[in-house]
Amino acid sequence: MEQQETTQALGDAERKVLAAVCDTVIPAIEREPDPHGFWGRSATDMGVQLGVQQLIEGIPDPVLRSGLVQLLDAIGAQGILRAPSQESREQILRNIGLSGPEAGAGVAAMIGMTLFIAYGAPDAQTGQNLNWEVLEYPGPISPPPEAPKTLDVHRPAGDEEIEADVCIVGSGAGGSVVAATLAERGLDVVVLEAAGYFNESDFAQLEFKAYQEMYWRGGPTPTADGNVSLVAGTTLGGGTTINWTNCLRTKPWVREQWAREHGLEGLDGPDFDRHLDAVWQRLGVTDTCSDLNGPQQRMAEGCEALGWSFARITRNVDPDSYDPKQAAYMGFGDQSGSKRSADRTWLADAQAHGATLIADCRATKVVVEGGRAAGVEAVSGWQDPAGRTARVTVRAPRVVVAAGSLESPALLLRSGIGGPATGNHLRLHPCTAVFGIYGEDQRAWWGPPQAALCDEFSNTDDGYGLLVETAQYAPGLIGSATPWISGADHKERMTQFRFGGTFIGLTRDRGHGSVVLDANGEGMPQYSVTDELDLGNLRQGVEAQIRLHEAGGAHTITPLAGGAPTWRRGDDLDAFIAGAVRIPYRVGGYRLFSAHQMGTCRMGPDPQTSVADPRGELHDTKGVWIADASAFPTSSGTNPMITIMALARRTADAIAEDAGATAPAERKADREVTVGN
Ligand SMILES: Cc1cc2nc3c(=O)[nH]c(=O)nc-3n(C[C@H](O)[C@H](O)[C@H](O)COP(=O)(O)OP(=O)(O)OC[C@H]3O[C@@H](n4cnc5c(N)ncnc54)[C@H](O)[C@@H]3O)c2cc1C
Repeated sequence: MEQQETTQALGDAERKVLAAVCDTVIPAIEREPDPHGFWGRSATDMGVQLGVQQLIEGIPDPVLRSGLVQLLDAIGAQGILRAPSQESREQILRNIGLSGPEAGAGVAAMIGMTLFIAYGAPDAQTGQNLNWEVLEYPGPISPPPEAPKTLDVHRPAGDEEIEADVCIVGSGAGGSVVAATLAERGLDVVVLEAAGYFNESDFAQLEFKAYQEMYWRGGPTPTADGNVSLVAGTTLGGGTTINWTNCLRTKPWVREQWAREHGLEGLDGPDFDRHLDAVWQRLGVTDTCSDLNGPQQRMAEGCEALGWSFARITRNVDPDSYDPKQAAYMGFGDQSGSKRSADRTWLADAQAHGATLIADCRATKVVVEGGRAAGVEAVSGWQDPAGRTARVTVRAPRVVVAAGSLESPALLLRSGIGGPATGNHLRLHPCTAVFGIYGEDQRAWWGPPQAALCDEFSNTDDGYGLLVETAQYAPGLIGSATPWISGADHKERMTQFRFGGTFIGLTRDRGHGSVVLDANGEGMPQYSVTDELDLGNLRQGVEAQIRLHEAGGAHTITPLAGGAPTWRRGDDLDAFIAGAVRIPYRVGGYRLFSAHQMGTCRMGPDPQTSVADPRGELHDTKGVWIADASAFPTSSGTNPMITIMALARRTADAIAEDAGATAPAERKADREVTVGN
């Protein structure tokens, strides 16, 4: 605690050093013409250092935070404030970065935070960012519409104890489907969601606001080893509220593997087709709302030129309200309301059948009595005038854990259940990204984030392989993901950005990482790529992206990786690829990222290597079920939402059978809620 107090705020000297670091990353450079004032504007001209200071001071881990403060002291001691030129300041950053792996990660983090704020943070008055002009990024195109919240979310007004048949932890892709399926069978269902309820009236089309309100730990968060940047939804509806509506059915070879090697009976046959079909139908998946933006069009052309397999992606969108301009902001919440996310489908169904939804209420522990589930303890975001939070206890003989693959294992570990495999087998679909620059504006910020798919390499080796897709335009993320070599070089790259398109290579990983608990009882993910097959597929993914850009007409290509070379038309492509694939796939090399976390409480027959049995119930604790992506026996190899939902529906059937609730039933009378201290 004392350490926290001494290192929480930056001192005067550290603030001055931080400002110098920010201005080294984004210096004012004299350049004519400079119609947007972009070249002449330094980071501190925009107040970027204040944002970075806030980010550093807000880092919850005191060790990480004080590490960055010490790094600022070290940069100060190297004389950055007295350095005579931009070149010498850049050299100081480089020297410190090369002095050791921790310093290297720290310098990279400071550069990343500076770029993230400089290109992502909107001005409080205008809602715009001055740097967006040079990107020709329009920023928000419409204010949040007036849209009533259609779900009735219960807010505890004090400590509460609730009786239910089933308590579901997490309202995302998996939890919402189980809630609907079980409520429709007449069971009393309570859903606890740690995060808030946001709908169209809250969606401002702003990256930072979305991260703060609706993303796990406030936006892209590195694994403990710094190797992979993680993004996950944390809001009512979970990932479905902010995801990109790419709907892909589970691949046959994955279904066979899960049935054959992991004991998931029926996965490879019509029984699972039934679940996939039901999910497809409820989400209204359609192929009529998949307009291609510039980079996606270039991918299509690249595939055609190379003779590679290309598909337009099907999406869970209502064609009547679909608007490609609005769809561009999908990852910040969908203002048009056309996305058929969990709140508009499964959670609405659950509520129509009497389920109680409690948002801002974080499960801390699964209660176990006599070796089986007895309920869940949770803490509500509600506070009394003295700042005391409310405790919510749900007494239920069945608990469904669906808090996402980063939080579900943490909940089990805190509860002392799940067995030795809990938290192991973290799969991430690690992604690389490669940027190509074309002859004209690509308007990459327009249209659905993912409408194009190259699946030529989806099964290159025993069911493992990769997909090439695109990602949503997010200016802060773009600024920070663009490699920084020097202040001038980075500015130059950003002036070219509007002509560019980014592809991602999404790898079906065979190797895995883990989630363990840190000293505060919070989940700490770690992941490094060591499996030879995965390394081969990551390399193949980089090569495929480069070849697609080249065939699509790019004149310049750069992988988003530290120390990456740049290819210009006329250069030897094969030699460039040979160099690009050799860059390490970890911190300091490729900026790996993951929006798909899976497998940390996986299903399988063996209690030593899996957490839940092939129906979804814990091996070691009857009445506790797993129903999110953490139940996947291996990674799915496709964007996982459809598979998560279909598998959750299968698990819900098993829970209903276990509870003797096999047929649709009338809505039950309102449950009793005890309010106390
Ligand atoms: C930016 C982005 C884009 C994506 N695009 C696509 C796409 O186009 N197609 C696709 O198939 N997939 C996509 N995904 C992935 C997909 O959305 C996720 O894989 C999916 O939502 C995971 O489902 P889940 O049920 O495992 O967990 P989630 O949907 O993440 O739900 C878990 C919920 O549990 C809550 N929770 C956590 N801890 C607790 C606790 N202790 N108590 C109570 N509640 C808790 C969380 O707040 C969260 O709301 C995307 C993901 C992201 C981040």
